[in-house]
Amino acid sequence: MESKLQIYNSLNRKKEIFEPLNPPHVGMYVCGPTVYGDAHLGHARPAITFDVVFRYLRHLGYKVRYVRNITDVGHLEDDADEGEDKITKKARVEQLEPMEVVKYYTDRYHQNMDQLNILHPSIEPMASGHIIEQIELVKTIMNQGYAYEKDGSVYFDVEKYNKDYHYGKLSGRKLEDLYQYTRELSGQKEKRNSFDFALWKKADPRHIMHWTSPWSEGFPGWHLECSVMSSKYLGERFDIHGGGMDLLFPHHECEIAQSNAATGHDPAKYWMHNNLITVNGQKMGKSLKNFITLNEFFSGEHESLDRAYSPMTIRFFILQAHYRSTLDFSNDALAAAEKGMNKLVDTYRVIDEIKPSDSSSVDVKRFEALCRNAMDDDFNTPVVLAHLFDLSRVINQVYAGKEKLSANDLKFAKDLYSTYLFDLLGIRKEENKTGDTALLNGLMETILKIRQEAKKNKDYTTADYIRDELNKLNIIVKDTPDGAKWEIGR
Ligand code: ZN
Repeated sequence: MESKLQIYNSLNRKKEIFEPLNPPHVGMYVCGPTVYGDAHLGHARPAITFDVVFRYLRHLGYKVRYVRNITDVGHLEDDADEGEDKITKKARVEQLEPMEVVKYYTDRYHQNMDQLNILHPSIEPMASGHIIEQIELVKTIMNQGYAYEKDGSVYFDVEKYNKDYHYGKLSGRKLEDLYQYTRELSGQKEKRNSFDFALWKKADPRHIMHWTSPWSEGFPGWHLECSVMSSKYLGERFDIHGGGMDLLFPHHECEIAQSNAATGHDPAKYWMHNNLITVNGQKMGKSLKNFITLNEFFSGEHESLDRAYSPMTIRFFILQAHYRSTLDFSNDALAAAEKGMNKLVDTYRVIDEIKPSDSSSVDVKRFEALCRNAMDDDFNTPVVLAHLFDLSRVINQVYAGKEKLSANDLKFAKDLYSTYLFDLLGIRKEENKTGDTALLNGLMETILKIRQEAKKNKDYTTADYIRDELNKLNIIVKDTPDGAKWEIGR
């Protein structure tokens, strides 16, 4: 497979030519959501980032097995080893079975993902369905001598591990620095060192979800599930492991430690991390009143929102930044994203209205290499969009009669749009501000024919009536030498 794709590998902190372990197969694992609340922008970004990676790898001809998990167990408050399971807490507060909470929010997560036009992963395993495998991995790590039991809980022995391997290779942290860290937290007395992390936790009486194990009635540590589910479905060594930057430490660092302790090598060849989204320059947080769910974006019902924004506007907004850059949400930024997206989608529609010339006065074929190079450069979606805007300018000049394109080149431009904007960046063709473009186009064609007929019969009352009524709907009708044209007012 001839590919010039370069991926920034968080493990080496540099861009590398992508060479899969077993081409044409590619295994990709991405950490999915914990399902105890509605998805927000912080969920949309990794979902969209790795959806584009998935789409592009398939476009290059790879056979991708994409695994994205659902965390439905053992994920404690503040991602610590202590505290209450978030799902258990929600279940207790709402007097539901934990699995009712899981089902409810998993369904809503899937609905949001479909709205954002995210392709379904190949496998979507749930942590609660892999307790036996998690217990087995704990046993293996204990047998290798890198874990110890204390009062029914099992902890990973980071200090021992670091003598044989390198704890901190992904995050760049040094163990010496970690000695200072969170030593005095309550309930940490069972651990030899504060940075040791739980592989198995004995459940306290409040904990509703628990399972039988050789050590106690309890539940697995959070980091364990991803090690288990990635190796089960992709093998002990696979190509890409992805997730948000917030998961790099401790979650992914711990996954690497678990895999090395169990198998003697790293699980993934490439580690990819999307950066985080800030809101008006601030970190997103439930306590900061800037925590906006996707459903609130789509309905506009949140005090920080000026109005509703469509799922495709959110998608376009996220793709306007490179995935490794921070991205700041504001109403102005979303409005600008919406305007930009509509412009590109409108251009696609305009191509069909252009009368082809015998020859072309501009080169549109060069845009293909530009777009491909941008994607090959670590999935640089903002640069792809910049090229599509340039192409849009060319198309509009042709439409205005200032440049010309042959039938061949018109088709080429249209296919290029379709490939990059719709297939690879995943913008939905039919959705712009009006909803279903194809339906609207058909309706408008019929209405304008009736108006044309009325004018021909000198029935100007009817013709003007149609124009004025459309005007009220913000549809502007213009009479041109080529017949009536329409557009939606800005
Ligand atoms: Zn994970």
